[in-house]
Amino acid sequence: MALVDIKSMFKAEILKAFKNAGYPAYRASQVYLWLVKGVKSFDEMRNLPKGLISELKEKYYIAGVEIERKLISKFDGTIKYLFRLNDWEHIEAVVMSYKHGYTICISTQVGCKMGCKFCATGMGGFSRDLTAPEMISQIKEAELDNEIRISNVVLMGMGEPLNNYKNVVKFLRLVSSKENLNIGMRHISLSTCGIIDKIYELAEEKFQLTLSISLHASDDLTRSKIMPINNKYNLDELLTACRFYISKTNRRISFEYAMIAGVNDSDECAKCLAEKLRGMLCHVNLIPANDIDFAPGNYKKSGMEQIKKFVNILEKYGINVTIRRTLGTDINASCGQLRRSTKKVEV
Ligand code: SAH
Ligand code: SF4
Repeated sequence: MALVDIKSMFKAEILKAFKNAGYPAYRASQVYLWLVKGVKSFDEMRNLPKGLISELKEKYYIAGVEIERKLISKFDGTIKYLFRLNDWEHIEAVVMSYKHGYTICISTQVGCKMGCKFCATGMGGFSRDLTAPEMISQIKEAELDNEIRISNVVLMGMGEPLNNYKNVVKFLRLVSSKENLNIGMRHISLSTCGIIDKIYELAEEKFQLTLSISLHASDDLTRSKIMPINNKYNLDELLTACRFYISKTNRRISFEYAMIAGVNDSDECAKCLAEKLRGMLCHVNLIPANDIDFAPGNYKKSGMEQIKKFVNILEKYGINVTIRRTLGTDINASCGQLRRSTKKVEV
């Protein structure tokens, strides 16, 4: 019989399974507490009798991540992890320290199918989806390793969260539940390249999380050139889905826009963007693109002067805009780069 991943079970599910197996209810609570603490094996559950431990091992396994490499930025203390999964796949996560606490950027897939031309993950291919506990374990492992409590989670690491919808929704419910890590939805951001049917589905969940849309262009021609998903769902369709999302959840959407020199950073691009977003409950986050030497176009980040001009134009149209602070530049903190370099070494 295949072993069941006990970490992907809600407390109520464990209680029910234990009841059916004839174990007392308090054992389920004990096991759940250990799992939330981040133990890696049943042997570590010190208050369980040996007999129960062996029975549990015959039915269940504990999914998780192991630290393979850890890099710490000398500039700002940003920590980057390369985690190894049970099947020896690798993913990345980044821990950043802000005034209001620690934020972790976690992965939702091993690689990504979306193939965005400026993205190290997209250029590195796709292996598999992550399970909900594998997402939770990235947070727990970072907390244990640094003896910290993480208050904010962003789903902006490797992978496209809405391409792994079922597991991501399960993760959101687990991580925010009081019995688990108890990280409220308002402290969680989910970033997507714009899988529209899933944006509609997510809107119906009415989660109070922040939805980020990786926009990166204000016209279809440019967007399709750098983001293949735009050939399936164009900008108009995407922005209509965003308006629907806002109307359902009442939450402000954050638009991510990586500034790539000579590609999407002209004054005309800024005006076009402002026209498209006018009147929407939203925020634009400009990111000086990480230089992308592996991409066919050999893209480069825009100069600060042009980025500031872009900001001025958006502000003139009344659009709320910020330039994202770049952290961990010395450790390749943007996701996909470390796995990529590991793969290169392995070849
Ligand atoms: N797949 C999701 C989430 C992971 S990507 C998405 O695309 O939104 C996380 C963020 O990093 C996205 O906004 C993505 O567009 C951005 N990104 C990827 N490569 C980048 C680069 N070279 N420079 C700046 N941002 C980049
Ligand atoms: Fe995938 Fe996001 Fe990278 Fe695009 S930007 S390839 S959707 S991880």
